[in-house]
Formats: sequence, structure tokens, C-alpha cells
Amino acid sequence: MSSNIPQQQWTIHDSKSLYGVDSWGNDYFDIIDNGDLVIKNPLNPNHSALPFADIIKGLQEREMQMPVLLRIENILDHSISQINQTFRDVIDKVGYNNVYRGVYPIKVNQQAQIVEEIADFGDRYNHGLEVGSKAEMIAALSTLKNTDSLLICNGYKDQEFIELGLQATKLGFLCFFVIETPSELPIIIERSKALNVKPLIGVRIKMTSKVSGYWNSTSGDRSVFGLTTAQVIQVIDRLKEHNMLDCLKLLHCHLGSQIPNIRDIRGGVVEACRYYVDLSKEGAALEYIDLGGGLAVDYTGEKSNGGQSRNYSLNEYCEDIVEAIKETLDPENIAHPTIITESGRATVAYSSVLLFDILDVTKFEPVPSSQSKHIEHDLIDSMREIFEYLNPKRVQECYNDAHFYRDEVRELFKRGQIDLRTRSVAENLYLEILQKIKLVLDSMEKIPVDLENLPDSLADIYYGNFSLFQSLPDSWAIDQIFPIMPVHRLDEKPERKAIIADITCDCDGKIDSFIADQKIRPVLPLHEQKNNDEYYLGVFLVGAYQETLGDLHNLFGDTNVVSVKINPDNSYEFAKEIHGDSISDVLSYVEYNPKEMQLKFRNLVESAVKSGRITVKERQRMINTFNESMRGYTYYERDSKYAF
Ligand SMILES: *Cc1c(COP(=O)(O)O)cnc(C)c1O
Repeated sequence: MSSNIPQQQWTIHDSKSLYGVDSWGNDYFDIIDNGDLVIKNPLNPNHSALPFADIIKGLQEREMQMPVLLRIENILDHSISQINQTFRDVIDKVGYNNVYRGVYPIKVNQQAQIVEEIADFGDRYNHGLEVGSKAEMIAALSTLKNTDSLLICNGYKDQEFIELGLQATKLGFLCFFVIETPSELPIIIERSKALNVKPLIGVRIKMTSKVSGYWNSTSGDRSVFGLTTAQVIQVIDRLKEHNMLDCLKLLHCHLGSQIPNIRDIRGGVVEACRYYVDLSKEGAALEYIDLGGGLAVDYTGEKSNGGQSRNYSLNEYCEDIVEAIKETLDPENIAHPTIITESGRATVAYSSVLLFDILDVTKFEPVPSSQSKHIEHDLIDSMREIFEYLNPKRVQECYNDAHFYRDEVRELFKRGQIDLRTRSVAENLYLEILQKIKLVLDSMEKIPVDLENLPDSLADIYYGNFSLFQSLPDSWAIDQIFPIMPVHRLDEKPERKAIIADITCDCDGKIDSFIADQKIRPVLPLHEQKNNDEYYLGVFLVGAYQETLGDLHNLFGDTNVVSVKINPDNSYEFAKEIHGDSISDVLSYVEYNPKEMQLKFRNLVESAVKSGRITVKERQRMINTFNESMRGYTYYERDSKYAF
């Protein structure tokens, strides 16, 4: 394990394997000799890469404060190319007689800049969009330019939604209504007749294939989405009645998000194909098979079938889909459909990184004190004696004793029989004993079961300048693991072990599950923070689902967002920036009126002037501070003047 490597022999390769850069990074990141983490240009991997340290310097020069959500345009561009290109290659190899058409589901990251970039980068592949609500539909209609791209409408659709779609069809878009519930069908039939357009219709089937992973409830009998077989038959009969069965062109299914096991994907595709065969035999003019989302991201880099990983490559994913369709349809003599997938997570996750600085560190170590020697108490003497019999054979006993004496001291303090200084000496001694015990445990082959967690329970707390609730909601809500690592100093051995706390005043605002040394661990090795030097961490693969699920806990708002782009000549630019919420922004989100607040504050200070409590000069200073604060960033703004 990497922790056995001495500091002098530590290299960037040890950092690479400790933090798993090559396992989860999809070849987008690397570490260079000076210890900097860099972004490789995915379009020119042989070019020299862009160090995060340069980006951070550029942000400082532009007065963009941490935390910053960094978007890397080239990675998004590459993700879209990669999925399209891989499907194309597999289709060629397998001899499949149709094409692949991807669509991006807007709900995965609805930010305008992201959707616009996807429409741009996807243009050469006719990569389309998937929408699940009227608002997303409107976003799609105003973004999509290429009418050869598909526009897939999922979700519950009312008359307005359907009219928007029919108008899109009139404009030449390939806009599919995927029927989620039979009640949508009469509206589609009536409105399309009224507007005189032939609608493109799909049916979403309820899959019985159950998949493993976190988001498996979109499959199986109790899934809330999709039509039962009886409802599918109803839809067919209804369309037949209206002479519209030729409008039924698409079969849709979605097994769930983040499917870790390739076997589940193949099983689902085969089930969908059975529907495809029978619906074709019923007379539907099917031409498209839409397999939904589910392509997983290997957050832990374990390449396993665990919920935060995936046991397959993109190539295997594409191969399994293309082959399964071909193998199921060929014996039935049914023409190969256009293959659609709605990959969201895998498309956008890699392109965003949350960057933040460490504000402070709490260590569970004794604080050196010159006065402690003079403090006398029986219990303290007993604690000091523990050092004399601390050895591997008696380590458990020493631990129990230290615990016992410390608790006694606390009890006496509560009863007023011990003063604060004495108690602080005891607490300090307790930590000193535990740290010694930790050293003894390091030298032991077999650690007593009760003490297994002791080293981790002494881990430092690194306080990061970010809000978990705003920027990493899934870390809090569903224990999602994101790769986290320092973006510099990677030529040095990280000698500390830590958990990370955010700056909300919430005990849930912490991260204590990390990927390190190829395993999920409760602590993360980090570098000693030297004399209040800036220390930057990155949280990776945060492009999917995190941005709009975040909330305003403690009124920490949206972070600053910056997009970088590496040019073909290897220069780079800060292509776009969005300033995060100001304090006045977040206050207005919760229905305060910033103007009124300024007025009220003005009245408050003015009356203080009137009563002679403050001078006019002081009043003006207060008003300026108040107003500047209102305009300012909601996060911690660093000032190096104040070192403790
Ligand atoms: C959420 C969703 C997706 C996206 O799934 P990913 O696993 O993120 O690719 C695709 N299609 C539908 C219908 C969805 O609900």
C-alpha cells in the first residue's frame, strides 16, 4: 500500500495510483513531473497538457473566487464524439444495417451553456435532445438547429406540450411523442388532425427485466413509467381505428440510470427487441429503437458491478446493444432499426470539476503546552503512567484505560470537582496516548478488532470552501462517491489522513467516503497544509445531475462557473464565465426584497445617528459594508492578512 512508501521516494506515479487518476479519469487527466494535475487535450493527447495550477492562477487574476465549477469544453466535445464514434465502429464491425442516433436528456444538466454546447458539438453526428417537460421542450426548440437530429418527448404530455411538438414537426424536426400513458393518445390524435400534421409516435414499454444498481426502480412491474402489455395493445388498437398505425415508429424503454452490470443491459435489450418484433408483426411501422439511458460512469474506477462503478467499457456497451438487436431481429426477418440511446450521465459527468480551497484543518493531536507539567491530579498521574506499559501486547488495555480515565475526568468536571485547565490537560494526554497507540498498531501484524477503526477516527478534518448541499447534492442524498484529490503538490507524499467538511453549519455537510488506493475508504490522504498556504482540491465527474438538484442550505448560492477550452494550437482560453449568486440573489430567492432591506438598514443607522450613538461617517461606513456584502459572493472570501 502507498502509505508504506517513504516521503523521499514518493513520486507522481504513487499519487496517480493512490488517487486512481487512470482508473476513473477516462484518460482526460494526468500528473506531470512538478506534481501538478493536468487536463489532457482529448483531441490532441500528445500535446502538452493544461495544469490546474495555471487555471487557478488565471481565475485569481480575473478575481473569480473559490469555489469554482470548472467546465472543460473539450471533454464534453470528446464525450459526444466518443459515444457516436464507438457506435459507428461497432455497427461497421458487426454488419448492422442501420445507424446510431444519440440524444442528450436535458434533465441531466439543463444549464443553457451545456445544452448549447451539446447541440454544437453534436451537430456533426446529428446528436439530438430528449425532453421530459414543457420547459425542457422549449429549451430544446430554442437550442436545436439541426433538423436531422431527433427530438424525443418523454414525460407526461398535456395539450400544450403536444402542440409544441407538432409545431416542431411542421418545422421539419424529427419530433417523437413517446407515449407514457394511454391518456396522451387521444390528445395526439385530435391535435395532429386539427393541425394537419402526421405525428411521430413512440410507445414506452414497462420492462420486466430488473436491474441492479441505485436507480433500478425504473424497471420491473412496479415501475411508475411505461405501458403495460395490455395498454400497449390498447394503443395499437386505437391507432388502427384512426388509421394511424403507420405513425407508430419508435419503441422506447429505459432500464434505469447508472446500470453497473453489462448483463442487465443485454437482458433489457433482448426484452425490448421481443416487443419490437411483435409490434412490427401487429403492423406498426417501427423504424427506431430507443434504449434510454443507463450507460454508467465508473466513479470509483473499480471496473466492478458495484452501484458506483461499471463492469464494462463503452465499446462493450455498444457491442452488446448492436449484437443483441441484430441477433434477435435477424431470425424474424425484421429490418434493423435506427438505434437511439439517451445517455446523459456518461455524456456530461466528466466535463465538470468542482474546485475549492481548504480554509482550515482540525487535527486530533495533543496541543503542546508548557504549563501542563505543573497540573497535578491522581487521574492525570494514572494517564501518564499508561505510557510506561504501552506495548503491542497491552495495547487494548492501554486504550481502555485511557478511555476510562478521560471519562472520569469529564464526569468530575461536570460536578465541578475539576477545573477547565485540568480537564484540558487530561484531554490532551488522551490524544497523546491515542496517537502513540496508533504508532504501535502500525507496527502490528494483527490489530485487535476493537481498535481497527482507531486510526481513521483520529483523521483530520479539512474544511473546504464549498457547500455539499449546493454543489454535490448526491453525495449527501444518496452517498454518491466522487473522486476527490489535490490538484497540485502531487510529487509530495500526502502524509495526513482526513475527512472533508464543507462550510455549512450542518453536521451532514461532510464527505467521509473516498476512493483511495483502489478502494472505498473512510479517509483520504492529503498534504499537510503549510503555514496557511493555499491548498486546492478538485471533485471530479460532477457534470451530471449535481447542478440543479443543489439547494440553498445556509443560503450558499450557485458557485462561479468558468469554461475553459484548449485550442488546436494548444493555447487555452477562458471561453465563458458565469458569476455565482450574490448574497442579494439568494436572499431574493427566499422572498426577501434586497431594496427594501437596504432601506430598512438605512433607517436603522440613520436613527442611530439621530440619537447620537454613531457619527455620520460611521453611518456611511456601515451602509457601504452592508451594500458591498449584498453584492458579494456567498462563499468564504479569503484574506491572507488574518493568519492565526
Ligand atoms: C434520466 C433519464 C435518462 C438519462 O439516464 P442516464 O443514466 O443519465 O444516461 C434517459 N432517459 C430517460 C427516460 C430518463 O428518465
